[in-house]
Amino acid sequence: MPNCDNCHNKWNWKQTIKITTTLNPVMTCPYCGGKQYQTQKSKTKIGFLTTIVLLPLLLQPFFDIPGAFLLSLFPILAVIVILLYPFLMELSSKEEYINFSNDK
Ligand SMILES: [Zn+2]
Repeated sequence: MPNCDNCHNKWNWKQTIKITTTLNPVMTCPYCGGKQYQTQKSKTKIGFLTTIVLLPLLLQPFFDIPGAFLLSLFPILAVIVILLYPFLMELSSKEEYINFSNDK
C-alpha cells in the first residue's frame, strides 16, 4: 500500500482506490492534503499488471479458447488487477516525467 511521501501515513486499500479512480494524475493525500504523484516505477509495475487482463486475448489464437469463456474471464481478471494495484502504488511529492532524450 502506498505511503504518503509528505506525511508518511500509509493509505489503505479503499483510500487508494478512491483517490486513483478520479483519474486525476495529481492525488491528494487524505491525511495531510498534500499533492502526491505516482512514481514512474510504480506506473511501469501497474502497466505490467494490466496486461494480465489482455493475456487471454493474446493466447486465444494459439489455444482456440471459446469466446464465451474469454468474455467471462475479463471481469475476473479486471477484479484481480483492481484488487492488486494498490499494493504496487508508490507515491512521490514530485511529478516524474519520462525523459526520452538525453539532452541536458
Ligand atoms: Zn500525506
